[in-house]
Amino acid sequence: MADDTFDLIVVGSGGGALTGAALAAKAGLSVVVLEKTDRCGGTSAYSGGACWLPGSAVQQRAGNADSTESAREYLGHLLEAPDKDRVEAFLAHAPELVAELEADPGFEFEWLPFPEYFDAPGRVPMGRSIQPVKIRRDALPEAAAALVRPPVEQDRAGLAGRRTLTGGQALIGRLLALVFRDGGTVRTGHRVAGLLTDGGRVTGVVATVDGASVELHARRGVLLASGGFEGEQSLRTRSGVPGQAAWTMAPAGTNTGEPIQAARSLGADTALLDQGWFCPGPLQPDGRGSFALGVRSGLIVDATGVRYANECLPYDRFGREMAADPSRRVPSWFVFDGREGGRLPAIAMPEGDEAEHLAAGTWVRAGTIGELAAAMGVDGPALAATVDRFNGFAADGVDPDFGRDRDEYDTFFTGGPTLVPLDTPPFTAARFVLSDLGTKGGLVTDAHGRVLRPDGSVIDGLYASGNASASVVGAVYPAPGVPLGTAMVFASLAVRHLSG
Ligand code: FAD
Repeated sequence: MADDTFDLIVVGSGGGALTGAALAAKAGLSVVVLEKTDRCGGTSAYSGGACWLPGSAVQQRAGNADSTESAREYLGHLLEAPDKDRVEAFLAHAPELVAELEADPGFEFEWLPFPEYFDAPGRVPMGRSIQPVKIRRDALPEAAAALVRPPVEQDRAGLAGRRTLTGGQALIGRLLALVFRDGGTVRTGHRVAGLLTDGGRVTGVVATVDGASVELHARRGVLLASGGFEGEQSLRTRSGVPGQAAWTMAPAGTNTGEPIQAARSLGADTALLDQGWFCPGPLQPDGRGSFALGVRSGLIVDATGVRYANECLPYDRFGREMAADPSRRVPSWFVFDGREGGRLPAIAMPEGDEAEHLAAGTWVRAGTIGELAAAMGVDGPALAATVDRFNGFAADGVDPDFGRDRDEYDTFFTGGPTLVPLDTPPFTAARFVLSDLGTKGGLVTDAHGRVLRPDGSVIDGLYASGNASASVVGAVYPAPGVPLGTAMVFASLAVRHLSG
C-alpha cells in the first residue's frame, strides 16, 4: 500500500528519534515515526533536556570555555577502549547538528550551567551542556502539543502536562513541531517487533497495531531509536543489569527491547548489555523507583548503618557505588534531619507524598537517632557512630572518608557547605533503591549509525541510536546531557548517511 511505504522509518519517538525524523523530513524525505505507546517522547520527555553537544555556537554565545578540543581531552581521560571513529564522528558532528537545528526558526538552544561529572583534564567549569529554550504549549501546533508525554510526576499520576514546556518537554515538543511542519507522519500505538529484509537488506518493519500485524516498508532505511530494555526484567536478568525493571525511570510500557531483539535475530552484534545510566532513587509507596540528585544535607548508609560513598556524587557514579555491593546497599537508607521541614533535602523525581511514604514504611521517622535505627532495623550503635563521625566532619568542613567537600559538582546544589550536621529532630530515613534512566547496551554501530554484525560487516538499511545502541561512551556517564547529545548526533549522522 502506498501510504505504508516511506523513505525512512523511525522506531521510537525520543530525542534521537525525533531529531532524525525532523532532519529527514526537512531534507525532503518521506518519514514515519512509529511509537508503541499513545504519547511521544519516552524517557527523553521526562529528562532535563540537557544536551552534551560540545563546541557549538551556543556555548560561544554564552562565553563558556567549551571547545571540541577540550571535550576530546575530557573524553580521552574517561573512556576505556573507546571506538575512536565514533568518538571523532560525535565530536565533529555535534556543532554541525546544533547549527543545523538552530538554523531553523523553530529551534533555539541556551547554555545550561551544570557541572560535568568528573574532575578530569578538559572539564569545563560549570559544564558545557545546552538545552532547548522553553516554549509555551500553545505556541506548538495542536497535533504536536497533544502528543508530548507529560513530565514524570504528572505522567505517573495520570495528569496532563504543563502549559510551558521546559527541558525534555521542550525538546520533544519542538522536534515534533518540525516533523509535522515538514510533512512527516507520526503513528502511535505501533509496537515494532520485527524487521523485513530483502536479500540481506532491511526494507521495513513489522508492527503490532490494535492486536493486528502490520507491515511498513522503507526505501532508504530503518532507524531503531527505541530506547533500551530497562523495562523488561527477563532481559535485564539475562544481561546482568543491576537494579530492577520496577525501579527504572522509563515510562511504563515503553522500553522493553523488542527492536534490539529483532535486529539480533538478523545477526546484529551487541555490546555493553549489562550497562545503564544509573541513579539512586527514593523507593515509592507503589513499589516503583524514582530519580534523586543534588543532596543538600543528610547522609546515606547501607544495611549495617555505615556510609559507603560521597552522597553528593553525580547520580550515575553513586548508583555504581550501590551496584558494587547490592546485598548491603540496595536498598540503602537516606537519613536526614528536620531542617527542611521534613522534606527530602535533595531533588527527587518524583519525591512522593511525605504522609504516604510514612504510612507505607518507605520512610520512617523518629525523635532520636537511636529510635530511628530501631525503626530502620539497623544496628543502633553503628548508626549513632556514623552520625557522630559525620557531624565531626561537618564541624571541620572536611570529609576524609569520601571527599564530600571539594568538587564543584558537590557544592553546585548546596550553594554552601556540603557537610551539614545531622542535628535537628525529627530524623527521617528514606529507602533508596538502585534506579536507572535506561539501559545503554545494545546494537553495535559504526560512525554513521549503521548496525554491524560481529564480523564488522554492515547490515544494510539498518541504523540505531540512543539507548537501542551500545553507547559511544561505554560504561561511563561523563557529563549532563550525554545520553541525549549522543542519541541526537548518531540519529543525525544516520539520516545524513541514508540521504546520501
Ligand atoms: P527514549 O527517550 O526512552 O525513547 C524511546 C521510545 O521508543 C519510547 O517512547 C518508547 O515507547 C519507544 N519504543 C520502545 N520500544 C518500541 C517498539 N518496539 N516500537 C515502537 N516504539 C518503541 N539525559 C540527558 O542527556 N540529559 C538530561 O537532562 C537528562 N535528564 C534526565 C532526567 C530524568 C528524570 C530521566 C528519567 C532521564 C534523564 N536523562 C537525561 C536520560 C535520557 O532521558 C535517556 O537516557 C534518553 O532520553 C534515552 O533516549 P532514547 O531515545 O534512547 O529512549
